[in-house]
Amino acid sequence: MSEQLENLNRLPLREDLRGLSPYGAPQLDVPILLNVNENTHGLPRHVREAIVTEVQAAVAGLNRYPDREFTQLRENLANYLGHGLTAENIWAGNGSNEVLQQIMQAFGGPGRKAMSFPPTYSMYPLLASGTGTAYVTGTREADFTMDPQSVAEQVRAQAPTIIILCTPNNPTGTALGLDAIEAAYDAGAASNAVVVVDEAYAEFSHTETPSALQLLPGRERLIVSRTMSKAFALAGARIGYLAAAPQIADALRLVRLPYHLSAITQATANAALTHADALLSNVEDIKAQRDRIVRELTIMGLAPAPSDANFVLFGGMENPRAVWEGLLEAGVLVRDIGIEGHLRVTAGTEAETTAFLTRLQELLAA
Ligand code: PMP
Repeated sequence: MSEQLENLNRLPLREDLRGLSPYGAPQLDVPILLNVNENTHGLPRHVREAIVTEVQAAVAGLNRYPDREFTQLRENLANYLGHGLTAENIWAGNGSNEVLQQIMQAFGGPGRKAMSFPPTYSMYPLLASGTGTAYVTGTREADFTMDPQSVAEQVRAQAPTIIILCTPNNPTGTALGLDAIEAAYDAGAASNAVVVVDEAYAEFSHTETPSALQLLPGRERLIVSRTMSKAFALAGARIGYLAAAPQIADALRLVRLPYHLSAITQATANAALTHADALLSNVEDIKAQRDRIVRELTIMGLAPAPSDANFVLFGGMENPRAVWEGLLEAGVLVRDIGIEGHLRVTAGTEAETTAFLTRLQELLAA
C-alpha cells in the first residue's frame, strides 16, 4: 500500500469513499495543451478589459456578501440562451460540475440511483459517490449513439431518480437525437427521475444538431446544463449554469451554500455575457479545426468518431500509449481517457492542430 493511501486510511473516511481515486487529468507544463477540452484561443483583449473594469467595480463592495440570487447573471444567461427562458428558469454555480453536484445533492443521496451511459464524462460517478448516490450505467450502440427504445427499456429496468445524458458526449463527441432524450424522460416518469442533459459543448455542435432547450416547455423534470468553460473560453473563472422549470432552481436553493457565487465570479460572467458575440467568435474556427482533425485522421487510416464537440476521440492505433508519449515528447498533450485503443484530442488553434497532426503523422510512419 502506498504511504499516501496508508495515511488516508487512518482517517475516519466514509466507507464508500475508501479506495476511490480523485479526478486527475494531468496538469503538465507543456506548450500545446489539447487534453481537457479547453478553448485554447483565449479571450479577446477588449473582453479582458471589460472583465477587469467590472471586477474592479465589484472589488469596491467586497466587504459585503454578494447577491445570493445572482439576479443580473440569471437575466443575462436567460437572454443568451433565448428559447423564451427568463431568469426564473436559470440556476448557476462555480462550473457546471458544481451545478451537477447540487443536482445530485437535491435529487440523489443514499438509497437513490443516478444513471448514465458510458463511455461518458468521468465526473458523473465521482459526483454520485461524493453525494452517497448509487451510480448505475446503461449501454450505448457500438458507434456510441443511443437508440431511444433501448434507452427507455434500460431506464425502466433501473428506475433511477437522476438520468444524465451528455450531448455532445464527452469523450466521444456524439450528439444525441432529441428522440433519445424524450424517451429517457418519458421512461423516467415511472421513477419520477430528473433528466439532466449535459450540453457543456453545445455551442460547437453542427448547425443541424438541435439543443434540448427546445424540449423544456411542459417538462418539469428536464434540466439542460451548460458551462462558460468551453465556448466562452472562461474555464478559469468557474461558471456553469442550467435551464429548467423554476421549481428545479428552488430545489437547488435547499442545497447550495449561501453566497456560493462570489461577487468576482458574477462580475466576470456578466462582463463576458455582454460580449458574448466576441467571445463566441472563435467557435467557428474551432469547429473547422475539429472537422479538419476528423478528415485528416481518416486519411491517416485512423478511426475518428464523428464529433459535435471541440474534441475528437480516435482509435485505430496499434500502440496508443506510444503515440501519447511521442506526442508529449513533441510538446503536445492529449488525453488517454481509458477507452482501450483510443485517445482524445481537443481542437485547438490552427497552429496547434497542425502541430498535433504533423507529429501524429510522423509517429504513425515510424
Ligand atoms: N460536463 C462535461 C461533459 C464536461 O466535459 C465538463 C468539463 N470537462 C463539465 C461538465 C464541467 O465543466 P465546468 O465545471 O468547467 O463547467
